[in-house]
Amino acid sequence: MINANGNFQLIKQNYLFYTVGQKTNEYLEKHPEADIIRLGIGDVTRPLVPAVTEALHAAVDDMARAETFEGYPPNAGYDFLKQAILDNDYTARGIRLDIDEIFVSDGAKSDTANFTDMFGSGNIIAITDPVYPVYFDSNVMAGKAGKAGVNGEFSKIRLMPCVAENGFAPDIPSRRVDIIYLCSPNNPTGTALNFSQLKAWVDYAIKHGSLILFDGAYEGFVREPGIPRSIYEIEGARSCAVEFRSFSKTGGFTGVRCAYTVVPKELKGRVRDGGLVSLHKMWTRRHSTKFNGVSYIIQKAALAVYSPEGKKQLKENMDYYLANARAIRECFAGLGYRAYGGTNSPYVWLKTPEGYDSWSFFDHLLADYNIVGTPGEGFGACGEGYFRLTGFGTKERTKEAIERLKR
Ligand code: PLP
Repeated sequence: MINANGNFQLIKQNYLFYTVGQKTNEYLEKHPEADIIRLGIGDVTRPLVPAVTEALHAAVDDMARAETFEGYPPNAGYDFLKQAILDNDYTARGIRLDIDEIFVSDGAKSDTANFTDMFGSGNIIAITDPVYPVYFDSNVMAGKAGKAGVNGEFSKIRLMPCVAENGFAPDIPSRRVDIIYLCSPNNPTGTALNFSQLKAWVDYAIKHGSLILFDGAYEGFVREPGIPRSIYEIEGARSCAVEFRSFSKTGGFTGVRCAYTVVPKELKGRVRDGGLVSLHKMWTRRHSTKFNGVSYIIQKAALAVYSPEGKKQLKENMDYYLANARAIRECFAGLGYRAYGGTNSPYVWLKTPEGYDSWSFFDHLLADYNIVGTPGEGFGACGEGYFRLTGFGTKERTKEAIERLKR
């Protein structure tokens, strides 16, 4: 028998969506007539836009002809897609990147998790609480989290509370941390870091030689001025930050799978003998060993996202979700709740009312309004007392949910 990776035993089972599903099904068994509205959903519901489906069809036709057939794609992505990413997402915003600093992949989930391959042991890792759970779990799985304590804490992980009192923006640590995970606009809190908040992190990272892993999966939802869409809008970020982007929520690609990661060539790490190594070279090496690229068909679909029609159609979809989210937030605010998000993000984060914790509020919404959301506690201890709703449902069902709540 093999020795298995015991770190997997240290990860909390992710009961969140399982329990949400189970509680909803139990309710439905007792009340089969209930018309449940699911506002907890973190997946897109709008179909792919025409610009993307046309590109998909055309790319399939390319694959059917000997002259245009494509075999293995380049590991880090076709230049046609990387050039479009560079021109539209960076150069157009005044950001200087090299095309080979962009690595196309099948998802920001896999990239954020796989980036732990770059880390040696002994780093102090700062993670926000509440959080997209992948950052935490992938470090535990890879054995980078240190010793496990009795209450689910780890000796090398510093949790950074993000609560109403600090505007859901993590405080700059008073003690040194080496690796910092930031997600903006944020899942689950729906809030986004402004220029000065993000600049404070970049300054901290430069001063302490730390690395920021910036997850910008929801960047396309930013609508307010003063909210950076890329960490590289902050001076100096090239020397301290990796950026993860995804076509999933912005382009409706959750079922198509395409994303990219930017690893600037300035980024360095120290190895045991004290020498410096390039994270860009390491990520290139990792990509070429463990990843065989995103298919030509999918990369052509991603390219269509940057066409004039693609941009317009995508914006319409994102505005649709944002309108839902805004309507949810305004509904709850009007009912006297403290409600956040929904402006630069499809997520709404509610403070549960007096007398309710995350799960009892879940039960209350389910039983009294037949509405399903996600208890904040499932995203971390600091999510207790909060509740996540999303704009990813249909306009009609969101409207119906709001009418029920107001009634
Ligand atoms: N990052 C955050 C913060 C997310 O919320 C999600 C998905 O919910 C992802 C990354 C995953 O992105 P992808 O679909 O590209 O793997």
